[in-house]
Order: sequence, then C-alpha cells, then structure tokens
Amino acid sequence: MTESDSYDVIVVGAGVVGPTVATALARQGRKVMIVERDWSMPDRIVGELMQPGGLKALRELGMIQAINNIEAIHVSGYYILFGGSELNIDYPEKTDANRTNQTIPVPDCVKDDNDKVLTDSTIKSEEWDNDPRVRGVAFRHGEFLMNLRKITKSEPNVTAVEGNVTQMIKSPDDPNRVIGVRVKKNKDVYEEYYAKVTIACDGIYSKFRKELGEDYAPTVESHFVGLSLMNCDLPSKYRGHVVLGTEHFPVIIYQISPEETRILCAYKSTKTPPQAELYQYLQSKVLPGLPKPIRPSFSAALETRKFRVMPNQYLPARKQGRDLKGYILIGDSLNMRHPLTGGGMTVGLNDAVLLTKLLHPENIEDLSNQALLEKRLLQFHTKRKNLDGVINTLSIALYSLFAADSRPLKILQKGCYQYFLRGGSCVSGPIGLLSGMLPFPMILFNHFFSVAFFAIYCNIVARGLLGFPMAIYEAFETLYTAVVIFTPYIIRELM
Ligand SMILES: Cc1cc2nc3c(=O)[nH]c(=O)nc-3n(C[C@H](O)[C@H](O)[C@H](O)COP(=O)(O)OP(=O)(O)OC[C@H]3O[C@@H](n4cnc5c(N)ncnc54)[C@H](O)[C@@H]3O)c2cc1C
Repeated sequence: MTESDSYDVIVVGAGVVGPTVATALARQGRKVMIVERDWSMPDRIVGELMQPGGLKALRELGMIQAINNIEAIHVSGYYILFGGSELNIDYPEKTDANRTNQTIPVPDCVKDDNDKVLTDSTIKSEEWDNDPRVRGVAFRHGEFLMNLRKITKSEPNVTAVEGNVTQMIKSPDDPNRVIGVRVKKNKDVYEEYYAKVTIACDGIYSKFRKELGEDYAPTVESHFVGLSLMNCDLPSKYRGHVVLGTEHFPVIIYQISPEETRILCAYKSTKTPPQAELYQYLQSKVLPGLPKPIRPSFSAALETRKFRVMPNQYLPARKQGRDLKGYILIGDSLNMRHPLTGGGMTVGLNDAVLLTKLLHPENIEDLSNQALLEKRLLQFHTKRKNLDGVINTLSIALYSLFAADSRPLKILQKGCYQYFLRGGSCVSGPIGLLSGMLPFPMILFNHFFSVAFFAIYCNIVARGLLGFPMAIYEAFETLYTAVVIFTPYIIRELM
C-alpha cells in the first residue's frame, strides 16, 4: 500500500456527471482527482438523448463541445403514435425558454467560446443558432462520454486515475467523516488517496450510495429492452418517437447517428426477463404496433438477438452533508427516475452546475470547513428540487399513463393524448416541463390535474347519455387513480 498526494476533491466515476463536476471544480482552481474503473469507451444503451435542459447545463459548464465530432443528431421535439393517430410536438421557443430559465455560466468555466456548438459533419452551428426553438440532441453514448473525459483530462488541475474504488476511507478521529478513497489498481495493488471532499458519481449501480444509509436503495418496476436499428426510416425525422399501443408497453425511438437508431421497448417486470420471453414479446406484440417504415429494420434487429436489458429504477434524493461529512453523492448515485422521458442526464448535469456554483471559492474558500459545506449542501438539496421534482415526477406519471393496464389508467391515457391534441398551452406546458426548460412543479401539478379532469370529461362524452351513470362511477375511479399516481411522487420529490 502506498499513500499519494492529497487533493481538494476526489471524484469517483467518469460517466456523464463525474467529468463535468471534476472539470468545473478544476477550472475554479481546485486540485481534483478523478478515478474511473475503465477509461475505455463504454458500450451502453443509456444516456443517448439529451433534452434541451441538459444542453443548457453543458453550455453553463463550458462543455457543450462534447456533442461535437460524434455525428450527433439534433432533436426538435417528439412524435407520438397512439392508436393510429400521429402527433408532432415541438420543443419550446427560445424566447419563452430564456424568459423562465436563463443560461447563467458557472463562474470561471466559460471561456474561449467553449459554450458554443461547433460546426461538424452533422451539426451546423448557424442552423442551431438561428433555430427559433431550443434543441435537444441524440448521440452514441460512448463517444459523448469520451469527449467529456477528454475535456476533463485536458484540465491542468485534474489528475485522472484508472482503478476500482473499493472503499471510502473514514477519519480515524471521526467515523462520520470521509477523508478519501481506497482504489484497487490491478490484481493486488491498492492505493489510498485523500481529499477534503469526495464526490461519488458512480452511477446507476452505485456501491457508495449506501454510505447515506442501508435503506437508501432504488425500486424497479419495469425494464427497457434496447435494440439497434440500422438505416431505419423514421416517420418524423429529428424527433424522439413515442409509440403507444394497447398490446404493448411504451416504445421510444431516436436516431443516434446517421446510420443507427435506438429503440427502447418497455417491459413491465421487476426482475430481468429471460431473453426467450422478451423475443416472443417483441415479435408478437411490439413489431405489429410499430410504424410501417420501422418494421423491416426492427425485424432485422430482432433476428440478431442482440438485445440488451436495463432496469428502470426510481430513487428520490436524500439530504446530504449532516450525517456523513466531506462526502457528496450526485448523478444517478443520488437520484434516479424512469428513463422514458430521457431526463437523467439533464438532472445530473444541472446538479453539476448547481453544486459547482455553490462550491465556488467565493462561496466556500476552504472545502474542509464542515459547517459551511453542510450549509451549501442544504442549499443544493433545496435548489435542485424544482427541476428534479418536475422531471422525476413527470417520468413516473407519464410511464404510468403510457403503460396503462387498468380501466382508469386507460381513461387517463386517452385523455392525455386528447389533451395534447388541443395544442397551445396543453402542449407547450408539458413539453416545456419534459425538456427541462420549465422547472416549475406548480405547472406540472396544474397540467397533471387538467389532464385528469379533461380525461373524465372526454370519457363522459364518449359514454353518452346511456352510459352516464357508469361514466360518473369512472370519474371518481379515474380521479382517485390520478391522485394515487401523482401525489406520493410529488410529495417525495418536493418535501
Ligand atoms: C435504459 C436507460 C436509458 C436511458 N436513457 C437516457 C436518455 O436517453 N437520456 C438521458 O438524459 N438519460 C438517460 N438515462 C439515464 C442516464 O443514463 C443517467 O442519468 C446518467 O448516465 C447518469 O450519469 P452518472 O454519471 O451519474 O452515472 P454513469 O453515467 O452511469 O457513470 C458512472 C461511472 O462511474 C464508474 N464507476 C462506477 N463504480 C465505480 C467504482 N467503484 N470505481 C470507479 N469507477 C466507478 C462507471 O464505470 C461509470 O463510468 C437512461 C437510463 C437507462 C437505465
């Protein structure tokens, strides 16, 4: 065992969030070490569509160019297919988005136009700048990550280490204070590194979230099965596609490079389903429900049997700073939601922005000042709630509606789609929330219950005079279901 230098900050994990936190803190003059167990390009089916709110955070961090030179495809909004009916939804207008949610750079992070998208083989910066609406982007996750890591490694204040963090080291004088990490570098070589603050960004399967409590664990209700569609014709180019059907759970589709399109098919199961069962489901239920142009590439992908399964986990964030000192969780290790709405990176990157603003030397000069750090982390917990409360609750609520498996949920599902068809604020509000550009829980609350009452109204109209008594019964049932779906999550997220 050897003991090396100590740092201001150790960041564990170089996924989506780790490199952004490490870069921002280093640019603010902190001495940072980032440790990642595998610096080679990952091949994952997660984090491939970034909402405009995530891009805004990357601009604020001066790291937007991580989306360049990876053949990224811009996203202008969503296309929804429901029972044979199609609907295109655009992302918000820039003027509206900027009014409610201004771009404010993280101090010391934005310089030399590093907040500007560049022109490359798939991105035209002029087009991006002149688009009156905000944009999202889709890309191959591994290549995006490699760009983020390259930016981080180029910072003079960052030391990048490869190794598996096996343990948080606690102070011999105070078992409630983390003072560093133990890293397994290879077979029998371990090293210890010390820092004033250790930030764990170890992602979905985090080993270190349990440091905040043995009961701090996510729940799983469903899985996503991912397949690669090659040279697939999408009905509405430059949009995320959501396919809803009565025979299958929601399906999302987006183009991640000029040749490759990702399809993620939800499957309701708390355990990882066997491949044979999935194949049967995809073949008999999902395939017939897909838009016609997508079916040939989906059939071809099915026959390769290369489908990958990921759990869709939910984990509300915990308050930090008091029980365990010198230790911070951020990203998926702190907080997860359903990936249906593609909001994970947006929440994680916005947390990186908020945290690094709060930890700027002007707000806390000495990171070992525990009392001040605790205060900053309390501010972090409170301030992040608006965006994370909206994105997390929306993801769960929309998944419940879109995967409707009971009569009241089906009424809500139909009502939700008809609500979107009305256009105007019935669309601009929900897409503003989903895109991360409208981080206001009251607006979510308002739209959710407007959908519920509108669904009840549509159901009364559809039942007609003879079905009126039944419609009244269903009205109570639907309202009760809406309250039961929504309220626990909004309370858990905001309280
Ligand atoms: C199926 C699915 C699809 C998704 N799709 C989207 C999407 O389209 N858009 C979106 O915004 N979000 C999406 N998400 C969520 C998104 O992927 C996450 O929110 C995001 O990756 C979180 O970033 P992170 O840095 O916290 O964790 P990760 O990106 O998972 O990074 C964690 C890093 O820590 C490293 N690590 C872990 N343990 C250790 C250790 N002990 N020592 C050293 N290193 C370690 C890992 O190797 C990894 O590099 C999806 C999630 C799922 C499950």
